[in-house]
Amino acid sequence: HADAAMYRVKEEGRNNFSFYSNGLNESAKKRLIMEKEMYVALEAGHFEVFYQPQVNLKTNKIIGAEALLRWNHPQKGLIRPGKFITLAEETGLINPISTWLLNTVCAQLHIWQQTDLPSITVAINLSPRQFMQNDLYQRINQALINHQVQTGSLKVEITENLMIKDIERVTQTLLDIKALGVSIAIDDFGTGYSSLSTLKNFPIDQLKIDKSFIEQLNLDENANSLIQTIIALGHNMHMDVVAEGIETLEQLNCLKAWNCDVMQGYYFSRPLPVAAMTALLHRENMPPDEQSISA
Ligand code: C2E
Ligand code: MG
Ligand code: MG
Ligand code: MG
Repeated sequence: HADAAMYRVKEEGRNNFSFYSNGLNESAKKRLIMEKEMYVALEAGHFEVFYQPQVNLKTNKIIGAEALLRWNHPQKGLIRPGKFITLAEETGLINPISTWLLNTVCAQLHIWQQTDLPSITVAINLSPRQFMQNDLYQRINQALINHQVQTGSLKVEITENLMIKDIERVTQTLLDIKALGVSIAIDDFGTGYSSLSTLKNFPIDQLKIDKSFIEQLNLDENANSLIQTIIALGHNMHMDVVAEGIETLEQLNCLKAWNCDVMQGYYFSRPLPVAAMTALLHRENMPPDEQSISA
């Protein structure tokens, strides 16, 4: 019996060991495969920019869009950034991907600007690591020049966590970028680690209320207070305020009543491939327009 028990302990130990080591190997293997696949995807043109409309609450017109990265994987289909951005960051691949995205967006802005469509502003996301690249200013400047983009039509979204890095350097880079006519938005506002005192020293044009607050709207009294406070804070600091993640008419109507400036969310539109975004720009108003104005 003792032998049998001992045998079982050893056996289980070994199984556990191989279970864990296989586990590690598997995830390491997956990362390696994914890293290679991202290289290939960039070469093969398998990344795509989707555009999510942003709507002015007072006029109900599309005034801008956020550019969101998608990976069109030949086997797995459309992959959202949550699944690959971190690895792209860790491997440094985010830099060529983001240069590609910047140029794709600028080229698209130029195409839209050649038509008689009302002008819109497109925002791109920059992670803290991308923001700290030495050649960021140069890359943005080059993309704007190469594609003859109209001044004022590009925006960058940064996160609060950038504002606790090298404050002087970040401020200088923001000022340099703004001198190119690019505006600055703080994404996911209210979820990061910035302090209000640093916020006031940065040249920010827009606050984007994080969608986790919008999700709690009318479900949590504190969420309502927080949202109204962020709107007032933004306005008092001469910034526009955008609400992201609007999914319902109820949320929309509250935000209107609270004087929020811009809306972005599934209630209006999901992020769209460029052709669908262009078609939407050709329409006068956003689809849910009658309901939202009359309700
Ligand atoms: P984000 O910049 O905060 O973008 C908003 C995210 O919310 C997008 O997710 C968008 O699809 C989603 N969203 C918009 N409206 C709604 C809504 O009504 N309900 C819900 N549940 N979600 C909504 P997505 O496209 O998956 O992007 C996730 C994050 O990945 C982005 O968050 C951004 O941080 C990052 N990301 C996307 N594209 C890029 C990029 O080109 N570069 C970098 N560095 N990060 C990117
Ligand atoms: Mg964003
Ligand atoms: Mg956000
Ligand atoms: Mg986010």
